[in-house]
Amino acid sequence: MNEGYVYLVGAGPGDIRLLTVKGKQCLEKADVILYDRLVNPLLLEVTKPGAEMVYCGKLPDRHLLRQEAINDLLVKYAQEGKNVVRLKGGDPSVYGRVGEEAAALEEAGISYEIVPGITASIGASTYAGVPVTHRDYGASFAIVTGHDKSPTGQPIIDWKGLATGIDTIAFYMGVKNLPYICEQLIHFGRDPKTPVLLVQWGTVGKQKTLSGDLETIADLVKKEKFSNPAITLVGQVAKLRTKESWFERQPLFGEHILFGRTTEGASEIANELVKLGADVFEYPRFVTKHAKLEQSISFSNYDQIIFHSPKSVQWFFAQLKMNHIDIRSIQAQLFGASKKSRREIESFACSAFPVQEMMDSNKRLVVGSTNWSTKEQKRNELYGDHDFVVSHVDEIIEQSNFTCQRILDEDRVDTIVFPSAEAVKVVTDQIATLGETPSTLCDRAKIICFGSESKKAAEDLGYRVDFMMNEPSKDELIQIVKDIAKSR
Ligand code: SAH
Repeated sequence: MNEGYVYLVGAGPGDIRLLTVKGKQCLEKADVILYDRLVNPLLLEVTKPGAEMVYCGKLPDRHLLRQEAINDLLVKYAQEGKNVVRLKGGDPSVYGRVGEEAAALEEAGISYEIVPGITASIGASTYAGVPVTHRDYGASFAIVTGHDKSPTGQPIIDWKGLATGIDTIAFYMGVKNLPYICEQLIHFGRDPKTPVLLVQWGTVGKQKTLSGDLETIADLVKKEKFSNPAITLVGQVAKLRTKESWFERQPLFGEHILFGRTTEGASEIANELVKLGADVFEYPRFVTKHAKLEQSISFSNYDQIIFHSPKSVQWFFAQLKMNHIDIRSIQAQLFGASKKSRREIESFACSAFPVQEMMDSNKRLVVGSTNWSTKEQKRNELYGDHDFVVSHVDEIIEQSNFTCQRILDEDRVDTIVFPSAEAVKVVTDQIATLGETPSTLCDRAKIICFGSESKKAAEDLGYRVDFMMNEPSKDELIQIVKDIAKSR
């Protein structure tokens, strides 16, 4: 049996793009992922299909027992020969108990690596627009726990040294003990007017901040009902906070979008929304499997071949290569049902035509996914007499339902985008396994449809459609999401 291997990986503070390249590589090849409560669930979508997910949700105050069980699990999976990732919020060595896990692995003789991540204090401050050091306001920076193993949970530290010796202090897990922390710092000589900034859910769409000083912040926290996960930044740098940071100023900041998906890969439009600051969850996730070429099909028997997706085009050329068929022996004209399919055909140095330009023929072959094979009636309407060959199957990865559950639990869906009628059906079917219905989804979110077909499909299933695009485009979608954001 192969020897197992463990990677103790820092997931970063929240924004999934803050994961390191090495961390991403580890996730992509892991057989098992043990992850914490504060890890952004969207990172679980980076894993390979079929990877096992183990939630080690560490709720505050219940650390001890769990930690031993987690250490045992790491050892157990590695001994089974698995490639294991232990995914932790922020950096694994900052209040991440990585030392204990590494010791357990050492003891069991298991190979491991530690992959650093961006820690919450640095990530959250940066996204709140405040640098942790600054030539004019802070030359030293300390990371301090706001909660520890003492009987009261109040941290036992060198308060005098901290109050007088360090310019910028970041407290982790400190919201509950904030009154005590402020009192201690003032008592040991820090100016009561020292600025304080709290950043809750830093680096994601839920990010919220609260500014005050050592004297006022504890009351403000109570009044504003601020809670964990938050970091508390104490020091002159905190006054560099402006009304809105570069992150919060993005046009779609704070928008949480579930974007319906019907095939493998990311949608270009969804990526545009992300660039403008939205949190986007493309759902569900698919893996494409190429079909085997049926023996009875000979491409040279046709004079028109119609492709229903770029993937069908890729499959076709892969078949030619595999079967040593020279493209020049294929006489057929090649048609693409969409612009994307035509572009794909052209990328293989062949001319591509829109299906609208098709002349009559009785030697016609249509190439598409299994989704299409089930729509025989529609195909017949479009293409009359034809043969059909399946190029690929898009299989749903069940794991994404699990991610979806966590996204819903964290209240991170306030807009749903349906790019097609197919997407309406797929999302509704999948999300039903989590107990959600069109009506519960409409209670949570605004619904945007790409066109009249998706709108009809949505309404038929009981959705209230809030927006429909007449001529779907990136710009129109962005405008709609901006309008939704403004109306909140
Ligand atoms: N290893 C982590 C820290 C784990 S301790 C790291 O390096 O960041 C958990 C504490 O981290 C929380 O109580 C909170 O104080 C802080 N934290 C984690 N994620 C955060 C976030 N997105 N925004 C603000 N604080 C966060």
